[in-house]
Amino acid sequence: MQAAAATGADALLVTHAADVRYLSGFTGSSGAVAILAPMGRGVRAALFTDGRYSAQARAECPGMRVVIGKKSPALLAVEWLAASGARRSAFDSRQTAVAALAAMRQALPGKLRRSFFVGADGLVARLREVKDPGEAAQLRRAAALGCRLFEEVLEYIETGATEAEVALALEIKARMAGAEAMSFETIVAAGRRSALPHGRASSARLPRRGFVTLDFGVLLGGYCSDMTRTLHLGKASQREWDVYHSVLEAQQAAVAAVAPGVSCGEVDEAARSVLRRARLGKCFSHSTGHGVGLEIHEGPRIAAGQKQLLEAGMVVTIEPGVYLPGEFGVRIEDMVLVTPKGSEVLTVASSKAWMEL
Ligand code: ZN
Ligand code: ZN
Repeated sequence: MQAAAATGADALLVTHAADVRYLSGFTGSSGAVAILAPMGRGVRAALFTDGRYSAQARAECPGMRVVIGKKSPALLAVEWLAASGARRSAFDSRQTAVAALAAMRQALPGKLRRSFFVGADGLVARLREVKDPGEAAQLRRAAALGCRLFEEVLEYIETGATEAEVALALEIKARMAGAEAMSFETIVAAGRRSALPHGRASSARLPRRGFVTLDFGVLLGGYCSDMTRTLHLGKASQREWDVYHSVLEAQQAAVAAVAPGVSCGEVDEAARSVLRRARLGKCFSHSTGHGVGLEIHEGPRIAAGQKQLLEAGMVVTIEPGVYLPGEFGVRIEDMVLVTPKGSEVLTVASSKAWMEL
């Protein structure tokens, strides 16, 4: 609310599902949180949702005012704010469609319509970047499950199996182990397809010789894991071995750079400079990593030139890759928690050493 007040607002309207969950604990897909903090008076907050979620919302948000209505939760929240005397409300302009904002304005009394809403980017998203110990523990559990699943799926990785079969085996195991879902569409990219940074599992068959990249994550207790391992089927060429070890060296350099007070750009550069020295800089076509938490992609961005400083409690991925179109690709990804003194690799249980099956 302090951040909202800095924009001159006495209220904050939150509609993005992950932000609503973060603030209230409500896990339904249709909800809004309104916070009212007029000068010199106490803070009031309420969760708004529709009839489908009335029992769930009351169970998940004990001690919070829950308002059930027939309109969209955002409109209910706007009406409540106006009726409660709010004069100016911050909202997340990055998470609000133009049409939704117009409808929210229409829900206001005429005299408030022009001045009421003040756009503020990612107010709650910024809070979510730094995880509290409970969230870090949840992410540690999700990451550990990911590592275990990777070990268990290795027996399905063999010449002739399709990428989709490998992904399915992984996903069944994830569900059996208690995951609510995968945190994003599983990537299994084999042979020449490993040169596609986002090669989602297809009907292509795993080759006799070539790389297989697995990039996947589980959703466990609401929190996402994200990891990538690349292994080799059959005997590798010297070039394949060299590229793998350049990526590994780059990945380890970036992991080693993670510490509080270090800029995201410096971490990116730690990976990038290794690949540049190996004359592979141009083949590393994406940023080094991203924050991960309730959502699979959150702040901070670990990318070239990013000045934002890492803080203890942030959880980021470190995932450099090299892609040689028409040949092969290699990516290695860990989840890393920034600790007060340095970092803790959450996906530590899964080896990154060269693996030939
Ligand atoms: Zn990933
Ligand atoms: Zn990632």
